[in-house]
Amino acid sequence: MSVVVSEHRGGPSAAPVGRIASDSLRRALARVACLPSLRHKYAEHLDAAVVPVLGRLPVLTRAELAGAVAESNGLRRASRGAGLYAAGGSMATPWLAAAQDEGVTAELHENWRPLWRGDVLANLYPAGRMQWAHYFYNALAVRSEADVLPFGRLGDDELLQWLDFFRERRVTALAAPPETLERIVQVCAVTGRRLDWLRKVLWHGGGQEHDRLPAERSLSAELWSCYASAEVGVVGHAGPFCLPRTYHPLPGRVVEVAGDGMILLTVLDEGAPVPLLRYRLGDFGAVVRCACGRPEPALRVVHDAAVAGVTIHGQLVQPDELVRLASELEEVAGAEVVLTGNGSEPDRIRLRISLRSGVPADDYTCEWVRHHVLSRHLVLGALVAEDAEAFEVVVSG
Ligand SMILES: [Zn+2]
Repeated sequence: MSVVVSEHRGGPSAAPVGRIASDSLRRALARVACLPSLRHKYAEHLDAAVVPVLGRLPVLTRAELAGAVAESNGLRRASRGAGLYAAGGSMATPWLAAAQDEGVTAELHENWRPLWRGDVLANLYPAGRMQWAHYFYNALAVRSEADVLPFGRLGDDELLQWLDFFRERRVTALAAPPETLERIVQVCAVTGRRLDWLRKVLWHGGGQEHDRLPAERSLSAELWSCYASAEVGVVGHAGPFCLPRTYHPLPGRVVEVAGDGMILLTVLDEGAPVPLLRYRLGDFGAVVRCACGRPEPALRVVHDAAVAGVTIHGQLVQPDELVRLASELEEVAGAEVVLTGNGSEPDRIRLRISLRSGVPADDYTCEWVRHHVLSRHLVLGALVAEDAEAFEVVVSG
């Protein structure tokens, strides 16, 4: 399967969605100026006599942010303790994102209310190492005074029996990665199993998740989603009446669509180790009006896995990290990642390697490379422990 091609490349940049006061922007600039790796980047905007303007600041890249978070050691500067979750990277260069209350902030609770007292949520997001999503939905349920079954990943061979269990336990809502929802809908269609007990479905991600709507539309449940990731938390939210792939940014978040169609995010959270100043999320977007009736502009998101990475069970994985790890081995002459999957979006990673002269192209070599990558990547090992088919290594040619 080929990956999604963006429909928003090129064109003029759109006006920002959301507002940020110049004094809070000035404080954020003062904070990033304390970090040697970023001080030079923002030097010309640090003059106290000049009012900072968001649109004139340089764009912040993923590599720059990852480096700044590691450099800041600022996770300890937060006013309260925070969960540290894997946003990406390897064991040698990990990227940990901090989330207080798992990102279930007052702003989110006031603006996105999929759960209420009396709801029972079955949380099917994997509970593996440092995976933010599982804990986010647990926290969301508790904050909403709903009950939660912190279940974890639901395998194919146990799917029907657990769906029966959820019905008997009066579960009203499921939180699950899109590929899991897709499997549930398919299995129920084949077996004639009904999901009439299911009233709400929750998930998160970027544009790719809504491309699974044909399967999810066969559900009678309300669809609630948010645009979120471990690296930046919740950016925007959507409810049952919103357009596909369209989100309403939370207060305090400013989103811009740059001239190349890329989404830029600005968040000046005082508790974050590094303020996000025009951070390049990796997704493409467009500013639109949503059909749900909210008057403010909304953000339509298009995910391009080749650019932004592939999401597996709710966790983002960057293909170039895997190529870099494989290339550390002297047996490997080159490597590339091919994204595959049986669903409507790629959710499988195939690492195709070429070998140096004299290295046998056999199963042992592939397994050695696979072991090397899994043991050094920050999150892929935990994902593969739950779903062994998520990652394979093959010799090209
Ligand atoms: Zn809407």
